[in-house]
Amino acid sequence: MLSSIKKENEEFDQIAIEILKYFECKRCGLCCKMPVGLTAEDIERLYKIDKTILDKLDERIVDNYLKTPCPYLRGNECTVYEYRANVCRTYPFMSFYNIGRCGLRQCPLGKEIFLKIKDFDPLIELGRLDEDSKGVINEYDEQLPERQEMETVFFNSVELLKKFLKYLQRRNQK
Ligand code: SF4
Ligand code: SF4
Repeated sequence: MLSSIKKENEEFDQIAIEILKYFECKRCGLCCKMPVGLTAEDIERLYKIDKTILDKLDERIVDNYLKTPCPYLRGNECTVYEYRANVCRTYPFMSFYNIGRCGLRQCPLGKEIFLKIKDFDPLIELGRLDEDSKGVINEYDEQLPERQEMETVFFNSVELLKKFLKYLQRRNQK
């Protein structure tokens, strides 16, 4: 079960990264002012260039989250771009595969991507969250003391995003 979630997460991350190549981040820096979760791999990678990484974690949160705003943010620029966390690479896409969903945060870039997805598939069916899923997401959100209220659009599967990526690739071959 855990390995299949991991595999789905990895597949989702890869597709998100490919899709993001067709869009330009607005560099508003908003996502760097929200709590950013780190995986063990992220910490290991960042430790190579910053031996004080553990001091930069938010002690108010059980899981490993960077303090807010992100200590690596200068102005609106990331000072550790090549070493940044995995979630920073896929944002505004977010995976919630423990509940079988993926999401797109409606930041300025997320809104633009979502409009393009709607151009591609005007009949797009968004995931409706059942009570259990809402519980999981609320629990996640409650862990984030300085979270910014930002709507998230949920997709029930990665299939739509795969098709959307193919559509972008075809359009850009012309
Ligand atoms: S990903 Fe979104 S929130 Fe983050 S800098 Fe780009 S536009 Fe702003
Ligand atoms: S690591 Fe870089 S991209 Fe990620 S939140 Fe911090 S400043 Fe932003």
